[in-house]
Amino acid sequence: MSEGAAKKEEKPRKFQAIRGTRDLLPPETVLWNRVEQTAHEVFGTFGFGEIILPVIESTELFARAVGSDTDIVSKEMFSFTDPANVIRTLVQDALQAGPGVDMGNFEQTSQSSIEGKVQFISLRPEATASVCRAYIEHGMQQLPQPVKLYYRGPMFRRERPQKGRYRQFYQIGAEVLGGSDAPAIDAEVIEMVMTFFDRLELQGVQLDINSIGHSADNCRRGYVQKLKVALETVQDKLGPDSQRRIETNPLRVLDSKLESEQGIIATLPRIADHLCEECAAHYAAAKHQLEMRGVLYRENWRLVRGLDYYMRTTFEITAKGLGSQNAVCGGGRYDGLVELLGGPPTKGIGFAIGEDRLILSLQESGKAPAQQGRDVYIAWMGERAHATAIRAAKDLRKAGFSVELPPVEQKFGKALGQADKLGAKYALILGDNEVSEGLWTLKTLADGSQEKLTEPQLLDFLRKS
Ligand code: AMP
Repeated sequence: MSEGAAKKEEKPRKFQAIRGTRDLLPPETVLWNRVEQTAHEVFGTFGFGEIILPVIESTELFARAVGSDTDIVSKEMFSFTDPANVIRTLVQDALQAGPGVDMGNFEQTSQSSIEGKVQFISLRPEATASVCRAYIEHGMQQLPQPVKLYYRGPMFRRERPQKGRYRQFYQIGAEVLGGSDAPAIDAEVIEMVMTFFDRLELQGVQLDINSIGHSADNCRRGYVQKLKVALETVQDKLGPDSQRRIETNPLRVLDSKLESEQGIIATLPRIADHLCEECAAHYAAAKHQLEMRGVLYRENWRLVRGLDYYMRTTFEITAKGLGSQNAVCGGGRYDGLVELLGGPPTKGIGFAIGEDRLILSLQESGKAPAQQGRDVYIAWMGERAHATAIRAAKDLRKAGFSVELPPVEQKFGKALGQADKLGAKYALILGDNEVSEGLWTLKTLADGSQEKLTEPQLLDFLRKS
């Protein structure tokens, strides 16, 4: 069958966005842009520069940084192999083997070298690992420290989709890498997010903080051991997820939202009672620094964060109108991460804001922009008027007004109806008379009033209105 014949038989098929992904449409995108613009402005005032990262990274980067025992890495990543890399490996093998190669042998070598060299790639489930990779790759430790970076963009996790939980979602995050681990840095990073939320007038903002100790010191390890022992004694009363986590990640049990587990969790040992002297002092100083900045917080001993790399200060921010998925921001300190990824010992702290949830919360509290209207709808009739309308549209747009210029002639009545539907403020009426007189008619659609204006008067009038 020819290609053409095959095409003819293809039935039209409607496509839908893949489960857990969605289109963001106007006017909602106006709010997204406003949020991102505010992030640029606020983060800029704190000396942060934007980093734009790839969406794909080596799977191993996340396995190492986020932790292979975490849900994110073990269950939720979208991963694939790079076919080009497999082919390259085969070609390299063939070239190395030279002419007259025994094909049986060749297949065997190729198989083993493919296994060794296949590149596993993942869509990024988060961006902290990528920022650290970039810090190392570009030798940013040579720059004045600390290096302060922020990013925004889509992340991918194969989670069960629900309101506020998507498979492709968007984060705005920031990281401070290098320099000291002074508690003032922890407090300033938190102050920056709170300033951002404040600027957006996000409602019901609640900041929770905790310290989860130091992974290298005895405090964290000792606590996790005690927690594990305590959990084993109540194992039978816990659900399957928590039971599994006793082995894989006992701290995560504290995250549980299961009603039946809340009473049991309340009786478990608390990290604050097990912090070493240094970690306790760091935590106390971070709280003091927050107070000096007028940042209100609530201590929450159960706040442990899901990712392996966190240590000492952890924080989470919730907001109104989001139901069970009410966390809009999570963050914390991760001093060992850059080293774990092959870089020099480097202090680090950062956060990630869930932009989808932030937008949902803003919409719930009535911060959604109205349908994007137009300033001017140009109702034109006649060839000469069309030429004038094109010129007028160009000039008005240059002056920053949004203009709708209908592509074909319409009767004035229909044009005015269309202008109304689009939420235009004014209709500029251009017929033969207007063009020959050089006096244009501008109709204010809200009250129906009309002005006769010359071309320069029109711009003046619109600027003043
Ligand atoms: P995490 O990277 O898990 O610390 O998450 C940081 C923030 O990203 C959370 O507080 C949420 O606001 C947001 N977030 C995480 N996972 C999702 C998801 N699947 N859908 C929407 N937002 C998410």
